[in-house]
Amino acid sequence: MKNITIIGAGACGVAAFAELFLSLVTKGLKDKVKITWMEKDGKWGHGLAFGTDQPGHLLNTQADLMGLYVNEPSHYVDWLDNKGGKSLDRVKGKGGLEDSYSSRQLYGRYLFEHSKSLILEAKAAGLTVELLHQKADGLQREGDNYQLLSENGDVISSDIVILALGTPKPNNFKHLLTHSNYIPFPWPSGPILEKMNQAEHIGILGSSLSAIDAVMTLVDNKYEGKISLYSPDGLVPRVQPVKNKEVARNHLTMDAIYRIRRENRRGPLVKEIFRLFRKDVEEHTGEPLDWKELDREGKDVASLLQKDIALAEEGGDPLMNVAYSLRYDSTPIWSLLSIEEKLKFMKWLGPDWGINRHGMPLPNAKKLQKLFKGNKLRVVPFFEDVAFSGKLGEFQMKIKDKPTESVQLLINATGSPGKLDEMESTLLRNMLNKGYLSPYRAGGVCVNEQILQLLSPKGGSGIYGLGHILNGQLMDVNAVWFNVKCVSRMIKDITDRLLYGDFS
Ligand SMILES: Cc1cc2nc3c(=O)[nH]c(=O)nc-3n(C[C@H](O)[C@H](O)[C@H](O)COP(=O)(O)OP(=O)(O)OC[C@H]3O[C@@H](n4cnc5c(N)ncnc54)[C@H](O)[C@@H]3O)c2cc1C
Repeated sequence: MKNITIIGAGACGVAAFAELFLSLVTKGLKDKVKITWMEKDGKWGHGLAFGTDQPGHLLNTQADLMGLYVNEPSHYVDWLDNKGGKSLDRVKGKGGLEDSYSSRQLYGRYLFEHSKSLILEAKAAGLTVELLHQKADGLQREGDNYQLLSENGDVISSDIVILALGTPKPNNFKHLLTHSNYIPFPWPSGPILEKMNQAEHIGILGSSLSAIDAVMTLVDNKYEGKISLYSPDGLVPRVQPVKNKEVARNHLTMDAIYRIRRENRRGPLVKEIFRLFRKDVEEHTGEPLDWKELDREGKDVASLLQKDIALAEEGGDPLMNVAYSLRYDSTPIWSLLSIEEKLKFMKWLGPDWGINRHGMPLPNAKKLQKLFKGNKLRVVPFFEDVAFSGKLGEFQMKIKDKPTESVQLLINATGSPGKLDEMESTLLRNMLNKGYLSPYRAGGVCVNEQILQLLSPKGGSGIYGLGHILNGQLMDVNAVWFNVKCVSRMIKDITDRLLYGDFS
């Protein structure tokens, strides 16, 4: 009997369990395997992303991309439909159910209900399943076997370990941790709700989707004071169209990318990709664009948001639509780039790619617009640093060429760290120290992109990974649709090893 241990029961963990159960049963392997499923929060099927208690936290992906099963992206839409579809107050958006943005809470319920029924079904089918409400803190390899060390000292013996750890906290701004009015992470929302009304002016570090989540938490809980988002570039995500206009690309195509590689005997360069991208955008715009003019750094966010809302209600502009049309090609293109080119992309185009490719849902944009109109919200670009003034009892926000500003409460919403050593995780640190993980220079850990097996000097072949820890080598790990595709390839490899390979 082989023991497969899944660590984490968020969306990735549930997708892995679902696909593993299905594959073991359909391939007649259920008597050969025991599944151990560990979750430190003791809630199966929520995780950080979808375990929020805030109804205003919306999915930032349309419902028809949130299905748990590969090749069945509309599985979530069907579930929503059975629950009442668009009549549900937690389903937002002007389009059809498939284009809707439900609350993340509702999606968490989908994950929870699904994991619960799958666990019951698996046990009823005679599969050995053990659920452990424990935190994995360490791993010890012994030949082809792994000893998982949990926080309470228990040891779980495993032949295969699947890391579905999700989005670790960042370990930046450590110098602020001793101050009670500093909130190091916007989730869960308890600390924000507890302290928000003590502050007339709340500062949020970051201006991306994580920062917007924090603003939604404040607004939905009737915070009346002033909110300022501080970030180096002041860029805020654009607004997702009600329905993306499908656009064909004639220039930035996979053919063109592979031709570059073949003709030049090297990977594509970021400047070549961007040149092709611009051609497609201009072709759909019908005229050349002043790309310098499109640079949003430091510009007035309220007026940009106004324009973006209007564009989103008309199906989006070519810049966003061409970026969205790259959904299924961005990772294949990304994997052809050298690490140097990946680092260049992240530095040079990363922020703009982020705000166009990962826009905010329209309902959230409208809430922000109201706050801007009421002078309750502002975005402060060129943020440099923050220090706590013991004398004033406030945080001093340092902005380039501007007077320092004070805030009474500070929320760190800079989002998920990319680099392994910036991730707050005992388990990852333990595995890194033992050579069971290799940091990838562009972020996350080294992985075999086809089967999601982690590659390292000493980790052996029994450790697999999913989601955010793979953010450097794989581009879309912050999307369920992408992670579900990864799960399908990973489980195929594991069951093939059970059928024909070293586990047979
Ligand atoms: C706030 C937020 C909103 C998002 N919204 C969307 C969205 O709308 N659409 C979308 O497609 N993607 C979204 N994402 C991206 C999301 O990360 C991915 O979709 C991902 O698939 C989420 O699932 P996960 O299982 O990787 O992570 P998580 O949901 O973070 O789950 C990981 C689980 O692992 C557990 N865990 C971690 N370490 C240990 C340990 N050592 N021992 C035991 N248990 C452990 C955690 O407690 C957690 O329950 C969002 C991410 C965040 C952070």
